[in-house]
Amino acid sequence: MADDHAWQAVSAYGESRHLIQTPNIDRLAQEGMRFDRCLVVNSLCGPSRASMLTGTYSHINGFYNNYNCRFDGSQITLPKLLQKAGYQTAIIGKWHLETDPTGFDHWEILPEQGIYYNPPMIRDGQKVKHTGYVTDIITDLSLDWLKQRDTNKPFMLLCWQKAPHRIWEPALRDLDFDHDRVYPLPDSLFDDYSGRGLAEHDQSMTIANTMRVNEDNKLTTPKDLTPEQKKIWDNYYVPRNEAFLQKKLNGRALTEWKYNRFMHDYLGCIRGVDDNVGRILKYLNDTGLATNTIVIYSSDQGFFLGEHGWFDKRWIFQESARTPLIIRWPGVIQAGSTNKDLVSNMDLAETFLEAAGQAIPERMQGRSLRPIFNGATPTDWRTAFYYHYYEYPADHNVRPHYGVITDRYTLAHFYKPTAYNPDQAAIAAIPNDYWELFDHEKDAGEMHSVFGDPAYAAVQTNLIQEVFRLRAELKEPAQDDPKAFGRATEF
Ligand code: CA
Repeated sequence: MADDHAWQAVSAYGESRHLIQTPNIDRLAQEGMRFDRCLVVNSLCGPSRASMLTGTYSHINGFYNNYNCRFDGSQITLPKLLQKAGYQTAIIGKWHLETDPTGFDHWEILPEQGIYYNPPMIRDGQKVKHTGYVTDIITDLSLDWLKQRDTNKPFMLLCWQKAPHRIWEPALRDLDFDHDRVYPLPDSLFDDYSGRGLAEHDQSMTIANTMRVNEDNKLTTPKDLTPEQKKIWDNYYVPRNEAFLQKKLNGRALTEWKYNRFMHDYLGCIRGVDDNVGRILKYLNDTGLATNTIVIYSSDQGFFLGEHGWFDKRWIFQESARTPLIIRWPGVIQAGSTNKDLVSNMDLAETFLEAAGQAIPERMQGRSLRPIFNGATPTDWRTAFYYHYYEYPADHNVRPHYGVITDRYTLAHFYKPTAYNPDQAAIAAIPNDYWELFDHEKDAGEMHSVFGDPAYAAVQTNLIQEVFRLRAELKEPAQDDPKAFGRATEF
């Protein structure tokens, strides 16, 4: 799994901007199944990981946001169940769930978000130092673990990359990978958010205003480089930065420059991820493990790459809530197949358990993808997917919302977070309780809400009913947990 890897930046998904070639990830798609509608339950690093490990929504596993939540490692998780079933289990890479991993025979994780160059890590509770690039190191450690495991037992390895999470620092060998390419702009880079509500107007996640030109766009040299590394870094960035500063760009030209620098850095990180996926696939091939190993490539959520003028994630919208998912299982999944069912990374826990012949706990809320692998989607497969984002007020200022995504529509309810902040007057001043409805067939970019449009009256009524049916089925409390929103005291 990668962190914040947008499906628009996987060439197997064929996005119209043709941002990058990812030959190794694409190979998994050629040899397995590409899922075109894989959705996450809460588009944020920690919550998405908690959902994957537990097969549950945030209100069940208790990890709602990245501010005040600590993962309760005593709850039922996939690794614990597989460990109990005789599997060797390991997690290597980004964890970001605050408490120590449980259910793993071995773990080596980045503290918090971790850093890209020369990252310290925590190995089974002990601090360790590493020199090099984080994506290479996580892969090296993953391969080391695979090599030393007991070959008489089955295994589950979670190789969870940090890249391409902000602050998007590529491997030094890749800095010149795009030869100063000028990237095609997304249609909605200068979105003015007309046709949508307060939340879109009030967010703080634009490339134009929120992205920090110094740190995010590399006007300053990172502090964690060795002198040799710094030389390579400066050789690439410094002359380009000087040329940029001389131009004294502003307005749209500045935003376009920032977008291009962001694409260079973000896609440079993806290049490192793809190369390292190739290393793991090669190891599986060389050892003969490939024929009897399920390989999954995914991300903890999607990411905006300039659509709506944004970077980051959080929203129910398609760039954010949809994540890449590609699964290879020789002999079970037909090579080169694709699927458009509404699936979720929350379904993976049950999928793994079924694949391992294990019982699925009542508490889990996903559904095994196993029948879909054979092209036999159950007739009662979900036709609406429930989504709920909480973290607010927080970085990027995206208001809490829940809703459903279907094959054609997205319905979202933005609402006031109440009962958690002592400053009720401040909350009352925010008129943010409203709904939005998007028709993907007519508005693929989700640019104009048709909520309240009489032409959509029946659709609207049905989808609202569906939201509340799903809330009841998924045991969403009527009142959100007061700790769900995060930074409550810093309203
Ligand atoms: Ca993430």
